[in-house]
Amino acid sequence: MIKVEHLFKQFEDTKVLKDINVEFEDGKTYAIIGSSGSGKSTLLRCLNGLEKPTSGNIVIDGVDIVHNEKLLPQLRQKIGMVFQSFNLFAHMNATDNITFALMKVKKLSLSEAKKIAMEKLSEVGCSHRANHYPHQLSGGEKQRVAIARALAMEPTVMLFDEPTSALDPEMTVEVLKVMRGLTHLGMTIIVVTHEMNFAREVSDLIIYMDNGEIVEINPPKIFFEQTQSERAKKFLNNML
Ligand code: ADP
Ligand code: MG
Repeated sequence: MIKVEHLFKQFEDTKVLKDINVEFEDGKTYAIIGSSGSGKSTLLRCLNGLEKPTSGNIVIDGVDIVHNEKLLPQLRQKIGMVFQSFNLFAHMNATDNITFALMKVKKLSLSEAKKIAMEKLSEVGCSHRANHYPHQLSGGEKQRVAIARALAMEPTVMLFDEPTSALDPEMTVEVLKVMRGLTHLGMTIIVVTHEMNFAREVSDLIIYMDNGEIVEINPPKIFFEQTQSERAKKFLNNML
């Protein structure tokens, strides 16, 4: 379980996160939505230690990671992250993108790592792209390889930051299909997305952010059908 308590983040004069309080329960799926600039990416980046909060606590399985930086490397093994821009290693083929951390961080042998890479590529429907380099892959394939790479580390939490925002509709569908499959595997999934139908379908809770604050946390049915705040209503109207 991840507990975020009174989290603040400020970049120089800009207050980006203002008193964020939220709990992410094991095995559940959360969709974070909100306008651009509302602090969604910053919150995700704080959760896996890419960004250091200005104040507040993030307690993961009982350990406050804000005040125990030594534990960050260990934490990152438990938390996979997938970015809008894929972030694959350009000079490595799909297999090597996956085996790299398995050998370096998990200290697996090349053959063990390759076996896992092939399994994960198969799970995301990219077995036939194992020897392709990122520039030889479509956007959807790149994102699915990035997901396979994250899954190979056997994370208990997966963070997705607008994983389909750079993709055309067809590729979006294939990536969402892979992500939908993940929601049944017992991992905690936190996804920042503008895909409202997807958010509604897969998430246990919708977290609506605006201007550095969490304005609403509700099950999708309530969020979409009995929207509580004026801010969320306005946001949803603009999305239609
Ligand atoms: P979102 O993902 O919801 O679009 P972000 O978390 O990326 O929002 O950004 C929230 C605000 O924080 C924006 O105003 C953005 O310009 C600012 N911000 C994000 N990262 C930095 C940074 N490294 N330095 C300064 N300002 C930043
Ligand atoms: Mg963002």
